[in-house]
Amino acid sequence: MSFGFQLYLLICVFLTGICIGSFLNVVIYRLPAGLSVIKPRSRCWSCRTMVKWYDNIPLFSWLNLRGKCRSCQTPISIRYFFVELLVGLLFVAAFISFGPSLGFLVAILLIPAYVATAYIDLDTWTIRIEILLWIAVCGLGAASISALVDQDLGLVYGASVLNGKWIPLIHALLGGLLGFVLLNSVRVLATWYFKKRGRLGDDEEAMGLGDPLLLGVLGMVNGVAAIPLLIFLAALQGSIIGILWTLIGPTIRTRFERAESTEIEDDWVPPERALPFGPYLALAGLELLLWGQEVLTLLPNFKLI
Ligand SMILES: [Zn+2]
Repeated sequence: MSFGFQLYLLICVFLTGICIGSFLNVVIYRLPAGLSVIKPRSRCWSCRTMVKWYDNIPLFSWLNLRGKCRSCQTPISIRYFFVELLVGLLFVAAFISFGPSLGFLVAILLIPAYVATAYIDLDTWTIRIEILLWIAVCGLGAASISALVDQDLGLVYGASVLNGKWIPLIHALLGGLLGFVLLNSVRVLATWYFKKRGRLGDDEEAMGLGDPLLLGVLGMVNGVAAIPLLIFLAALQGSIIGILWTLIGPTIRTRFERAESTEIEDDWVPPERALPFGPYLALAGLELLLWGQEVLTLLPNFKLI
């Protein structure tokens, strides 16, 4: 491929990414609120004016409007711009990692699911079952296709060592099982411990069921050998970001929160300094998806299989 053509493809991939990112903003906002992600068209949450198509162009419109609604001047969170840019850049990263291949196709189906999981969990402390099912179908689907066409898609770690047609699918199924069972055991033990110490109420849990299920579906994408690495990456980055967040978070937090968060009715209030684990699991999944081989080079002790 000539350099010019590669550049052209990268620009196409980036533009596709920012459009998907724009749709993802709608999903992140509407899915937890129980609204349709397709209809109706977007309105300004403050003055209810329908957003015109030319004010809905990814990246461009937010800059053009200088982050304010055209009719009522209510600020539009920079987060909408950021999610569009993020998905655009992640699509480009996927294209650089996988090239034009089946692996790339799976990656661009998974990237939006990971980004949406992280943001919805940050907003509402819930992990959506619809998105978990999407990730599971992508993971098991990719492993099955990999077996059928007898080609390593670069997703399931360790499977290529053991030659066998259905080995990637077996790794994916075992990954789903181990991921869920492992983190669910932590959930049950932690809940039992904190209840015994009187730090949790009778109907409270130390961790939601969403986190074990998320690790399970990530295990389906990357295989059973990736589970220790996923936990390590999520815990490490969760600790670092968690510490930074408690130090500098309160000063910058309002800038990244969406303005409409009041629309979701929920009387449950998370602890003041607590952070959900889901976003870090999703981050670890994203890193392993896009830069799996590089991560394994950096952390050679995790080359278990
Ligand atoms: Zn408005």
